[in-house]
Amino acid sequence: MAAVAALGTFGLVIGSFLNVVIYRVPLGRSIVSPASACGSCGHEIRAYDNIPLVSWVLLRGKCRDCAAPISVRYPLVELAVGVFFAVVAFRFVPVAPFSGLERDACRCWHESFQDFAISGRYRFGDEFWALAPQVRYITPSHDYPYQGEAVVGGNLHQLLMGVNAAWRLAQVLPKASVEAGYTFGLVETVVEGTRPNRSNVTMSFGYALTRALYVHGGALFTKTHSGLTAFEVGTAPPDQRVQADRLLKMRFWHLTGGISYSTGFADLFVAVEPYVWGRDTHDGIAYTAGATWYFDFSR
Ligand SMILES: [Zn+2]
Repeated sequence: MAAVAALGTFGLVIGSFLNVVIYRVPLGRSIVSPASACGSCGHEIRAYDNIPLVSWVLLRGKCRDCAAPISVRYPLVELAVGVFFAVVAFRFVPVAPFSGLERDACRCWHESFQDFAISGRYRFGDEFWALAPQVRYITPSHDYPYQGEAVVGGNLHQLLMGVNAAWRLAQVLPKASVEAGYTFGLVETVVEGTRPNRSNVTMSFGYALTRALYVHGGALFTKTHSGLTAFEVGTAPPDQRVQADRLLKMRFWHLTGGISYSTGFADLFVAVEPYVWGRDTHDGIAYTAGATWYFDFSR
């Protein structure tokens, strides 16, 4: 995982350099000097405003000196190259061999990216309540191996559809809100005729520490509608047995908790999801990090 993080970070830096190349080469200018400057006011960009991805988000896409907008192309190029390097790193990071039913003794399977997700929500409501239909697509980061309690990811492509509802506890605790949601997950066919589709229910309580900082905690319940129970795996046909972990008919509770920071333009979030209880499932802790962008269609 350290190698993946290091190469991903290196990729961000390369992406940042690539931005300079993309901008200057067509203009026939040197890519070495002078230092980067704002295209609008010409002010030299300070070193701490030149951190790939981070600076653009913190500056909300605007020049610190003249507030001229900085194209979203810059962070997108950086992110794309960073992700590319991280994904390539996976191919060279050794993972434990497939070792029967033993646990992941080296814990190296725990420490890799497992799933990427992108979701879209449409929000109805006002400042006191919100109803948000959503679609979400989950794709495995790579074809990761797992056995027993090695990982919490499912290595499954999933399309989730559902709705989230939120209320602000305006009268009681003005800075607090409660949220509940349901999604149905349409899962890829694992073996001929078997799709372990599932239902997910979430509940959480959130609190705004400041205008920008929001913490939340709650629970996630998942129930898989078809597949194999752990008991059935032993007598399943060989083609299903090798895919046992992807076919499990699981039921589990996870706790969820996280923090999000609003930059005004986008929200950055980190979340943690420890396992509490389950049947035909695996124990583990999942960590999630991401960003949320808002589009206002009313303007
Ligand atoms: Zn400027």
